[in-house]
Amino acid sequence: MLYQVTKPARYTGGEWNSLIKDWDKTRIKVVLTYPDLYEIGMSNIALPILYELLNSQPDVLAERVYAPWTDMAAIMKKTGIPLFSLESKHPLRDFDIIGFSLGYELTYTNVLNMLHLAQIPVLASERNDSHPVVIAGGSCALNPEPMADFVDIFVIGEGEEVLLELLDSFRDWKGKGASKSQLLRQVATIPGIYVPSLYQVEYQSDSLLKSITPTVPQASPTIQRRIVTKLPPPVTKPVVPYIEVVQDRGAIEIQRGCSRGCRFCQAGIIYRPVRERPQSEVLQAAGELIANCGYNEVSLVSLSTSDYHGVDELVTSLSHHYPNLTLSLPSLRIDSSSVRLMNSLPAHKKTGLTFAPEAGSERLRQFINKNAPEDEILKTAAAAFDRGFINLKLYFMLGLPTETDDDIEAITKLVDKIHSLGRKAKGKKPQIRVSLSTFVPKPHTPFQWVAQEREQQLNAKHEFLKLGLRRKGIRLSWQDPKLSLLEAALSRGDRRLGKVIYGAWKLGCTFDAWSEHFNYGNWLCAFEQAGLEPGFYAYRERSLDESLPWTHIDVGVTTAFLKREYQHALDGRETSDCRYKICNACGLQHWQPDCQQKYQQLSQSQEILKD
Ligand code: SF4
Repeated sequence: MLYQVTKPARYTGGEWNSLIKDWDKTRIKVVLTYPDLYEIGMSNIALPILYELLNSQPDVLAERVYAPWTDMAAIMKKTGIPLFSLESKHPLRDFDIIGFSLGYELTYTNVLNMLHLAQIPVLASERNDSHPVVIAGGSCALNPEPMADFVDIFVIGEGEEVLLELLDSFRDWKGKGASKSQLLRQVATIPGIYVPSLYQVEYQSDSLLKSITPTVPQASPTIQRRIVTKLPPPVTKPVVPYIEVVQDRGAIEIQRGCSRGCRFCQAGIIYRPVRERPQSEVLQAAGELIANCGYNEVSLVSLSTSDYHGVDELVTSLSHHYPNLTLSLPSLRIDSSSVRLMNSLPAHKKTGLTFAPEAGSERLRQFINKNAPEDEILKTAAAAFDRGFINLKLYFMLGLPTETDDDIEAITKLVDKIHSLGRKAKGKKPQIRVSLSTFVPKPHTPFQWVAQEREQQLNAKHEFLKLGLRRKGIRLSWQDPKLSLLEAALSRGDRRLGKVIYGAWKLGCTFDAWSEHFNYGNWLCAFEQAGLEPGFYAYRERSLDESLPWTHIDVGVTTAFLKREYQHALDGRETSDCRYKICNACGLQHWQPDCQQKYQQLSQSQEILKD
């Protein structure tokens, strides 16, 4: 069948560094998956950590599988070939555990489709003791409710420690030969584990959520996000794909977490606090990655690379030790620190740079706590052009709360000024790519209560920017507002959305993030069949005391902090970066030693301590 599909290497396995353990002699069998195409899944940085961790256990084998593209899925259905792992080619139903990484809401229907292709019942309630246990983790698991009908166990937060605890329970359970429901009750006692079937959800007469309460004593009313104190060793022997993937380079996680405090950013909250990897470890990891994988490009992965202490020194040492290595520095801040970083890169490695002003006007940037003054942005852009970077990518977000026409116009003015700076710089003509995304009010952020902007308004803003930025050297791309609506509904949804996801999948929806496959009509139909409205979830502003579908998930950052941040936004008040200034008492002070120290130093602000 490989002759009949595009890119057969997506399904052949056998890649460099992939691990095949003895199937018959290994007790616990796990298959890990990112529910998207191979090229996307192989670029995910969380799965290699878990793959290595699980395979390091003598009695555990971990293999991989990704969502088969539609051509392959059609052949599998027609021929009855069940979805199989890339390593040993065993059908997924022969594994003990299937672990899904949920990083994007628009992959949810792929989870259902993969289970179906694996000939495993899609609904958790229809699976019995003979079926694998379905586990899901990742950033979307921080609001697990929309996927609660399909998943047996959610891992809330960082998986490195909790997975080992889960395995201990699994070993114990397997040894006893007990039922799956006994396993679920047992693992529900582990901090960071959420077993949705052990909770009852009630709604009010006005359709708002009333409560999510445990139905058994083993299940806790709130589930705490797991955080590892120290970053686990970097993965230096990842599987190397044989075809080009999205992130076709080595990756070293140099730090986890971000304390900048951008108020729209979910990652900034759910990966707190910041933990840095020592420079010596990064240097060693780069050498091992080159030796083990043959990479000539390595990405220093972080939510905010410029904030890593001594990043210039790190880049200089890496360039010195590995002169042929190209470094990719994602997520740079728009200020002088990035200019310094640019200087430390050798001349031949200057390709493109990406910056995210997010909003066009200083007022709106202040509102979202992205405190980048315009002169700083322009200085950084000028320095980039002077140093030979000709390709700049600029990210903006549309539909932010309080956004006005002036803020949209400010985007055109800012891009224009940057473009002119590029034309003044010597050398080639500048190429500026402007990427417009839509603001999605995400759970666990200071903006979790606000409404998403409607499609009509977003379309008008797109049209305005298309006209305003129509010139040579500027390329504009934008997100379909219908996709953003669906993303908002799925990310802020409650358990009733399970029916919608199921219905949409039944109507044929898969690969929803892919514009050629996104079928808005089918989704609307699925919402209607379930008696629900996408706008109820996306376009509705919540009151600050509404019970939200993710209230039982405790990410460590308190609701009091989120409310305070929302109020600070409305007051136009900046919240400083707690890494460099005082602790902002976000709630994590009880969880991490570094935060405890900073919190103790906090005596200046009575207002914060009152909370
Ligand atoms: S507890 Fe304080 S120092 Fe720690 S992440 Fe929160 S605000 Fe920053």
